[in-house]
Amino acid sequence: MQPSPPAAEARSPIETYLAALHDRHAGHAGGQVANYIPELAKANPAWFGICIATRDGHVYEVGDSRQPFTMQSISKALVYGLALEDRGEAAMLERIGVEPSGDAFNAISLKAGTGAPFNPMINAGAIAACGQVMRRSGRSRIQRIQAYLSACAGRELDIDVDVYRSESQTGHRNRAIGWMLRNFGVIDEEPTEILEAYFQQCAIRVTCRDLAVMGATLANQGVNPITRQQAIAPDGIDNILSVMSTCGMYDFSGEWIYRVGLPAKSGVGGGIMAVLPGQLGIGVFSPPLDGQGNSARGIRACTDLSNDLALHVFNNGNAPLPALRLKYDNTQVRSRRRRPQEQRQALGREGGRVRVLELQGDLVFSTVEPVVRGVNEQARECQFFLLNLRSVISADDASLRLVVELQRSLAARGVRLLVCHARALETRLRRLGADVETLYPDDDTALEACEDLLLANVLGSRFVTAKEVPFARCDLLDGLGAADLSSLDAAMAERHYATGERIICAGEPGDALFVLLSGSVEVRLPGPTGKPGPRIEVFAAGMTFGEMALVDGAPRSADVIALEPVSCRVLEIRAFEAFDERYPRLKIGLLQQITRQLSASLRRRNAEVQAFKGR
Ligand code: GLU
Repeated sequence: MQPSPPAAEARSPIETYLAALHDRHAGHAGGQVANYIPELAKANPAWFGICIATRDGHVYEVGDSRQPFTMQSISKALVYGLALEDRGEAAMLERIGVEPSGDAFNAISLKAGTGAPFNPMINAGAIAACGQVMRRSGRSRIQRIQAYLSACAGRELDIDVDVYRSESQTGHRNRAIGWMLRNFGVIDEEPTEILEAYFQQCAIRVTCRDLAVMGATLANQGVNPITRQQAIAPDGIDNILSVMSTCGMYDFSGEWIYRVGLPAKSGVGGGIMAVLPGQLGIGVFSPPLDGQGNSARGIRACTDLSNDLALHVFNNGNAPLPALRLKYDNTQVRSRRRRPQEQRQALGREGGRVRVLELQGDLVFSTVEPVVRGVNEQARECQFFLLNLRSVISADDASLRLVVELQRSLAARGVRLLVCHARALETRLRRLGADVETLYPDDDTALEACEDLLLANVLGSRFVTAKEVPFARCDLLDGLGAADLSSLDAAMAERHYATGERIICAGEPGDALFVLLSGSVEVRLPGPTGKPGPRIEVFAAGMTFGEMALVDGAPRSADVIALEPVSCRVLEIRAFEAFDERYPRLKIGLLQQITRQLSASLRRRNAEVQAFKGR
């Protein structure tokens, strides 16, 4: 029989869709390649590429997605961002307005009286914005612009020198605009160098893939989703996207936002960069331009993309994920620290006063508000709330401020709000005034801290974790008679371990049970490269570990590591088996005790599974 041929690599449905979209519009013959900059006229009118870059850095591309071309006006949107970073919003608004002008992109029109350009997307505003970019650290304006745009694209971009020269030799109208700006004091120096920098920024070479990544960077609070570099300061993102929404598509801007509904910027090179904030970036490229100066195929492709994939920003379907993913309390989920019986019982009774809220997705006012409301309502019955941010993707300052405010108002009522897994958000939380002592790296340490404080409250002076427990008082020996105790005492050798020493190694044969007389140990699952993995349990003096080996004889499933100097008594499996003949009652007693411990830990796991299912 012939072996069957290897299956062709499965094409993603998104690639299939983009290919069909490309086919649908590739044949469209409308539009004219720009020729007022002579070098641009050399573009091939058939070039056509479409790209989507997701916020997690995946790029879908079809057609001429790697064909280089010059950014032209698309650079205006991002350079405006750089100027904002350099000068601040107020200073920029003093010089450049944010009103759609209704004039052509290259109009020599400035607001009557002030001489301020209407907005940064027409040439006058863009030249003024370029002039606001500072020379810094030995770098010229254009060097800074080039580095900035490269960070947005996630690769080194170069300047198409032929296109630059071509525009510099013919750009008399832009020169006139430059001198007008100088005349009105919108720029503070002779425009010559600014104009050259502007011509060069327009001639920066990109591909339509780069435009999609730049768009995704704008969608992702300024963080390039591929390089993870903060390319654009997050404060300016709303400013950039606002002017793109109102003025980004020349005289088609109103209709564009109505039909396509994505902040976007196009350029006479044939490119369009569009952004669905918080979600994705789109790059489209095809040189023939329509009557308004936008890529004719680009407009068609974007209109279809927006309709077919429901991308319009004002689409109600874009409601963010609810922030509350899961909630449970300390009666259902405990920290990994095993506790003596009295403490276990106390947590069983009082654990409802410790509540854990696991949050997810993007924290914004509308997702955090219900969480704040819920916590406030429950605060009367609670002593601790723990916000677990492990599944949070992003958080804006407004939502973090709500969390910090909540923390403050709860503290005034004697309730503590802890936060864990805050990682990247920690610095901002601190800056907004969060109590540093309430920020924990992980949920287990935070939960353990809550339990300790709760137990100290409930048990008072009885809440002590014994450093040392006499052999006869250890858990395992509970219920054994004096004779059995002394037989066992004789059968178990004493062993000592230093801090950090591995007492049990995952994978090794399980040949003994350990009773901890003093010190504490942690149980960790084996990590990927031989390093210790996540902690699953902490045992203190008086407790037993390694007992599963006595029941099933299977190899060890986890590492056990001494957290401090430890002394143990060890019952070898051979000695245990030998009890059959000499001390059958002792063996039954031990098995009963081990079974009780195993079933208690199984019950605990069941309660956790229940809690994690969110029921
Ligand atoms: N460099 C071009 C100019 O200033 C950019 C125009 C555009 O893309 O709209 O004329």
